[in-house]
Amino acid sequence: MSEPAYAPPVSEVPIHDVAIIGGGVVGCALFRAFALAGLDTLLIERDADLLAGASKANSAILHTGFDAPPGSLEHRCVVAGHAAYTALHERLGLKLLPTTAILAAWTEADLEKLPGILATAHQNGVHDVRALTADEVRAREPHLAPDVKGGLLVPGEGVIDPWSAPHAYALQALLNGGALLRGANVTGGEREGGVWRLATSKGERRARVVINAAGLQGDIVEAIARPSPFEIRPRKGQFVVMDKTAARLASAIILPVPNERTKGVVICRTAFGNLLVGPTAEETPERVIPTVEQEMLEGLLAQGRRMIPALADEPVTALYAGLRPATQFKDYQVEAIADQGWITVGGIRSTGLTGSLGIADHVLGLYEERFGALKPIAEPVWPMMPNLTEEFPRPWQEDGRSSIVCHCEMVTEAEIRAALTGPMPAGNIGGLKRRTRCMMGRCQGFYCTRRVMEIAAPALPGLVAKIGGHADA
Ligand SMILES: Cc1cc2nc3c(=O)[nH]c(=O)nc-3n(C[C@H](O)[C@H](O)[C@H](O)COP(=O)(O)OP(=O)(O)OC[C@H]3O[C@@H](n4cnc5c(N)ncnc54)[C@H](O)[C@@H]3O)c2cc1C
Repeated sequence: MSEPAYAPPVSEVPIHDVAIIGGGVVGCALFRAFALAGLDTLLIERDADLLAGASKANSAILHTGFDAPPGSLEHRCVVAGHAAYTALHERLGLKLLPTTAILAAWTEADLEKLPGILATAHQNGVHDVRALTADEVRAREPHLAPDVKGGLLVPGEGVIDPWSAPHAYALQALLNGGALLRGANVTGGEREGGVWRLATSKGERRARVVINAAGLQGDIVEAIARPSPFEIRPRKGQFVVMDKTAARLASAIILPVPNERTKGVVICRTAFGNLLVGPTAEETPERVIPTVEQEMLEGLLAQGRRMIPALADEPVTALYAGLRPATQFKDYQVEAIADQGWITVGGIRSTGLTGSLGIADHVLGLYEERFGALKPIAEPVWPMMPNLTEEFPRPWQEDGRSSIVCHCEMVTEAEIRAALTGPMPAGNIGGLKRRTRCMMGRCQGFYCTRRVMEIAAPALPGLVAKIGGHADA
């Protein structure tokens, strides 16, 4: 389902200060930053709803940056992103589960790497990371296999709701004058007289500065402005979601000792009350549909049970996979090209959920340096997001609530209806699930799909998200 094809006559196409291509978490954070900076900003997303790419499926960990390459842009943005989320989440109604993490050593080789990781953490300014003996690890996490050899405690790592955060960023941008165009694939562009004319599947859009935040399509979109200096090499991560009864088996995020390529398989609670085992890290040419494979999932379950033996008795709720927009480079690929009116924000591989607010600040700084002064909005509007997390009160617990539609995730009819209306309604069923959790529980929609469809059907054809000062999007 996509927004109606609407192309304003060319003579009426307004010129935005900034057009952002890509409504993943990075595009949403950029949208918020630029709109609050007082710039006339348009966010263009090719899918019918936001978060259709890498941002659809991740581990939802708010990283401290303790293990990021020191001196990298990724490290700076992750630290800044963590600080920004911590500072602003309550004003947007967003949640943070301060779970802490334990990086557990399972072999002598792992144990030998711990002092180096601890030194990197301190070099990265994350001074509260400290060593734990095997006994201390076991005392904190009694369900871990008894042969754990020691570990590091990382107090600042937490878990968030991976969808409400970017939705909040985009909604705040909309409420402060930004414009959103969904279901519009950007297929090309030309720059004339200092203005970009972007060709989209919903007609032309114009802007003085274009930001490429197209994630898994980043190199293809980059070719609109120049031969791409990076190549997207998608890296798939598969996950197993254990039933909610398994959440009691780990209170901290259990991290493995990472290797050169990946942070490795993590066991961690989700904001929605499940326990996650994953992700894998697999090179793939696929950029759009992350498939799950039986063999990999069995391997993940075996790894999970190796770390927490009691997982063997726990049922699996779901399987999913995500694609990381990795490139041939380790670091983020961010660059402002002043004479082209173009900013590249690519290769935001595996920390973008955390880093997004930091990236947005960094890019805003580049914009100010290269393209002109900002006029921040004096008193921005702050939307409050509905709570979807398990640890805080939800509408089904309130007196006088409407009927429950999804009994696995306890989603009420009123929540579903609310997600289909307002300034940024769900654009498709995936977007509705990310806004409410409906159909995402143990039965995976077996019992509630029909009712959800009945409620959603009248709203889903032709959704337009339009608010603020712009009537074009
Ligand atoms: C398995 C896995 C685990 C992860 N775990 C974590 C974690 O625990 N913590 C953390 O901080 N990060 C994590 N990440 C990383 C994080 O999810 C990514 O860094 C982030 O989602 C990248 O976002 P993005 O906005 O750059 O890209 P995307 O989410 O891919 O967004 C790009 C958007 O651009 C749109 N688009 C593409 N081409 C066009 C076009 N031509 N026209 C219009 N729109 C277009 C796409 O539809 C998409 O919506 C993980 C990622 C994966 C895959």
